Amino acid sequence: MLGRMMSFPLTLTHFLSRAAALFPDTEIVAVRPNKTLHRTTYGATVARAARLANALTRLGVKPGDRVATLCWNHEAHLEAYLAVPAMCAVVHTLNLRLHPSEIAYIARHAEDTVIIVDQSLLGLFEKFRAEVPSLRHVLVVPDAGGPAPEGTLDYERELAKERDTFDYPTLSEDQAAMICYTSGTTGNPKGVVYSHRSTVLHAMAACMADALGVSESDNILPVVPMFHAAAWGVPYAGFLSGAKLVMPGPHLDPASLVALMASERVTLAAGVPTIWIGILALLDKDPKAHDLSSVRSMVIGGSAAPPSLITGFAERHGLHVTHAWGMTETNPLGTLARLRRGMTALPAEAQLEKRASQGYAVPFVETRHVDEAGKVLPRDGATMGELEVRGPWVAASYFGGEGADRFTSDGWFKTGDVVTLDLHGYVKITDRSKDVIKSGGEWISSVALENALMSHPAVLEAAVFAGRHEKWDERPIAAVVWREGKSATDEELTAHLAKHFAKYWLPDAYVAVAQVPRTSTGKFLKSKLREQYGDLLLSKK
Ligand code: AMP
Repeated sequence: MLGRMMSFPLTLTHFLSRAAALFPDTEIVAVRPNKTLHRTTYGATVARAARLANALTRLGVKPGDRVATLCWNHEAHLEAYLAVPAMCAVVHTLNLRLHPSEIAYIARHAEDTVIIVDQSLLGLFEKFRAEVPSLRHVLVVPDAGGPAPEGTLDYERELAKERDTFDYPTLSEDQAAMICYTSGTTGNPKGVVYSHRSTVLHAMAACMADALGVSESDNILPVVPMFHAAAWGVPYAGFLSGAKLVMPGPHLDPASLVALMASERVTLAAGVPTIWIGILALLDKDPKAHDLSSVRSMVIGGSAAPPSLITGFAERHGLHVTHAWGMTETNPLGTLARLRRGMTALPAEAQLEKRASQGYAVPFVETRHVDEAGKVLPRDGATMGELEVRGPWVAASYFGGEGADRFTSDGWFKTGDVVTLDLHGYVKITDRSKDVIKSGGEWISSVALENALMSHPAVLEAAVFAGRHEKWDERPIAAVVWREGKSATDEELTAHLAKHFAKYWLPDAYVAVAQVPRTSTGKFLKSKLREQYGDLLLSKK
């Protein structure tokens, strides 16, 4: 027997109608390049989204066409997030931190027809524009003030020409809504095509109390860029809930972010560890200078949140960190590190171990880990294997059918993360598969060593990578960034690590660096460290 309930499509169109009906006065705040604050409302955003849909239709955008964005986090970017999918086109967020030739590759690959670009990013755009022949129109968001240059259209003028209602089509929930490309540190970036259904379900899951717990009473700050896996779905989760949205624009330095969090009474903010490491260092300098009493949770993901960061915020500033794991391919939220029932009774160290892990899967995401032959491994918290996931917001294939080897024949996605899984379902990443260190046939977890190094008082950041070794094949080398005015000897660092690890895990060498090289989405770029220092141990012989 079939159920007799309505088959109501899970589409982003509902986000618009709900916002207009229930939250017209809710505020959206965006920081401009000149640091002034622009304030608008959900009601105005819904109206402007309709104007954008009308303008894009006039410019010839057809169902399925890709409309690119090259923008900071602000209200116009949100308008594209809403209008483009709801009109049955596909919003394609371009990563402005990539090299122009990489952006050109991605825009060409997606066959973007229109681009919405911030005036403050026109310099970057001009570096690759000629390499994307599919682009028919360029809409310039005047975030920096001033006129749109020749050969482009002024976003505001185009919107002003249009009506503030749009007859959105009834869509299938399986229709594509957004394309995000992976950051592709190995090989070409690959396109992940989110559907309306995946995006809607992801937003609802993110709102669950044991996930991000987003509600109308939140003031949300997505520090994570809107070009990085839909800003982890945070803008959609916020918009669905009617939360106030605070968009940081291009100002992502610790001082600007802390000031914004304080002035807008932010309750929930999300970003990569680097951002929070900087913020913690700023708060530590002068704990009384900033009022972050409104903040209920700081979501950290994208790479591992060091335990010292979690305890640093909690113990010195009373601030709560929520550690989450995800990928572009998972829309992106996959697991989240909350304590399970009864775990608050565990000793503090055991609680921290859970909270600093990548956590357990959110509803409808399923996890397993496998060995090199694809055999499912025991959930014993010790056996390492590659994490595989499946679920309604996990990619089933890449745009253009590339990377087919990442999808198993029995319907799982191979994440490339090397993990342990425990009885309670907690995933613990020990490495990215391309970053694992194999010493004399044994795996050494670079993430575990990094976390321990970052708990040393002199170390601000640490990245551990494989150095080539004559006898052991590979041995760990640690790159460290000192805290301002501090340093330690190799012996001191080794003594610190020896408290936690077997002798063969201890790095063979340390290199002091001014900054750990990073990818375009703020992850440690260990391939660069390997390139630069990978032969250090050979030359030492
Ligand atoms: P991206 O698709 O650029 O978001 O990258 C996804 C990858 O980032 C994952 O496969 C992990 O290797 C890494 N990652 C994301 N979140 C975390 C986390 N909380 N801890 C450790 N690694 C993470």
